[in-house]
Amino acid sequence: MENRITETLKILTDADKEACETVHITENEPVSQKKRLFIESYGCQMNFADSEIVASVMREAGFATTSEAENADLIFLNTCAIRDNAEQRVRTRLRQLNVLKKKRPGTLIGVLGCMAERLKAKLLEEEKMVDIVTGPDAYRDLPRLVEEAETGQKGVNVFLSREETYADISPIRLNSNGVTAFISIMRGCDNMCSFCVVPFTRGRERSRDPYSIVKEAQGLFNDGYKEVTLLGQNVDSYKWLGQPGISAVTEEHTENVSAQTQVNFAQLLEMVALVSPELRVRFSTSHPKDITDEVLYTMKKHDNICKYIHLPAQSGNSRVLEIMNRTYNREWYLERIDSIRRILGDDCGISQDMIAGFCTETEEEHQDSLSLLEYVKFDFGYMFAYSERPGTLAAKKFIDDIPADVKQRRLAEIIDLQQRISLERNQRLVGKVQKVLVEGTSKRSDEDFSGRNDQNKRVVFPRENFKVGDYVDVMITDCTAATLRGHAVVATEVLQ
Ligand code: SAM
Ligand code: SF4
Repeated sequence: MENRITETLKILTDADKEACETVHITENEPVSQKKRLFIESYGCQMNFADSEIVASVMREAGFATTSEAENADLIFLNTCAIRDNAEQRVRTRLRQLNVLKKKRPGTLIGVLGCMAERLKAKLLEEEKMVDIVTGPDAYRDLPRLVEEAETGQKGVNVFLSREETYADISPIRLNSNGVTAFISIMRGCDNMCSFCVVPFTRGRERSRDPYSIVKEAQGLFNDGYKEVTLLGQNVDSYKWLGQPGISAVTEEHTENVSAQTQVNFAQLLEMVALVSPELRVRFSTSHPKDITDEVLYTMKKHDNICKYIHLPAQSGNSRVLEIMNRTYNREWYLERIDSIRRILGDDCGISQDMIAGFCTETEEEHQDSLSLLEYVKFDFGYMFAYSERPGTLAAKKFIDDIPADVKQRRLAEIIDLQQRISLERNQRLVGKVQKVLVEGTSKRSDEDFSGRNDQNKRVVFPRENFKVGDYVDVMITDCTAATLRGHAVVATEVLQ
């Protein structure tokens, strides 16, 4: 039974907002005589990265992107199915687009991504304005599906692949600040967390050829980018078993990889870090059962691998973790945290995902989630009320029995505590100098720049004569739970 609750996602930083709440839309490309494509992307960073693949595939088919749905010949919604409210948002948007389609009957509408994969052809019956339904592994087929739709036939391709990684497709960077970019290193997920729809919507886990990843990072760096984030549902289980191929990178890197036929995540991280000391490397998401000390030591070894780990906990109670099928318990999680602190120190940023009100969770078990937060002192977190997803193990095995108001109250308690801890963690940095990569103008004031420090915290400071893409040493003078504020310092001040 789908228990429709109003979920609350508390946003703690602007970076979080970008990752979870913002809907990304395409920008205008300055070309004429091409058909216009508008893509609106929902959900996680993987989806935003996928939209860049889609834009690339469609450019080959003669489409240029536009920022205005009203002027588009083709509209794609790249959707998320992780919680019910994500899907409801898309349904609302489809109704708005239906009005537009009535005014411009030639406009084609495609639903892509996880919601398309979950609902398949049923979506065409439920939402009559939709012409194309395409799952995450079928984007190469989009030009054909669009051609068919242009002749009035509805098109569906929700085939899930065991091989597709889109390794050979150069993504078109959408919504780019020209400084930071995402690189997908793997697709799908083989974990069967009982609450999660991802294994059903994104299929089996597969890792992308490391040479193509390093080549993409090198290309971005050559184009002026200063930070890449390696993306996967569970990056620590990245494993490439292919033969060494021809590397397009420097001799040093070729040597580094040619000796081995198997590349794990720690090795991949090092290969990307070696592209340039000026290129920051981040990654997401780590899984507590898989993150190894080898990864932590690789982070320590390279200054340009950011000291920040997103390590979803989901619950602080071992029984709940067991029925979530997370395959670790509280003690295991805390041991991993202790290892992070031992190897990377207290300053390493750590963030969490937490689910409130999972099936059968008692008040005492909820208290364990709160005490986990107290113990770890996470820098920030993404916190959710449990939303039952049809077809998942939890939906089949358990009753979604925690009343909506109890879920909301528990969620609010988790969020309040995390806010307090985030503020404490940020206050520790007041009076210290942080290296910030400038990403753009602050949303609040044109006079200020905004960027992130090593630990992924948003830092705002007066722009002076700096430019986007500069690394700036910023003395932190003030903070909230979400943002650090400060001013640039000259080298002598840094040394004091
Ligand atoms: N692969 C990552 C992992 O294992 O942590 C994250 C995947 S998921 C896109 C992001 C987060 O959504 C999860 O960590 C979990 O906290 C949350 N989530 C997933 N399914 C959910 C559900 N049914 N209800 C509420 N939150 C959910
Ligand atoms: Fe979902 Fe678990 Fe896979 Fe993350 S690891 S995507 S929560 S099944």
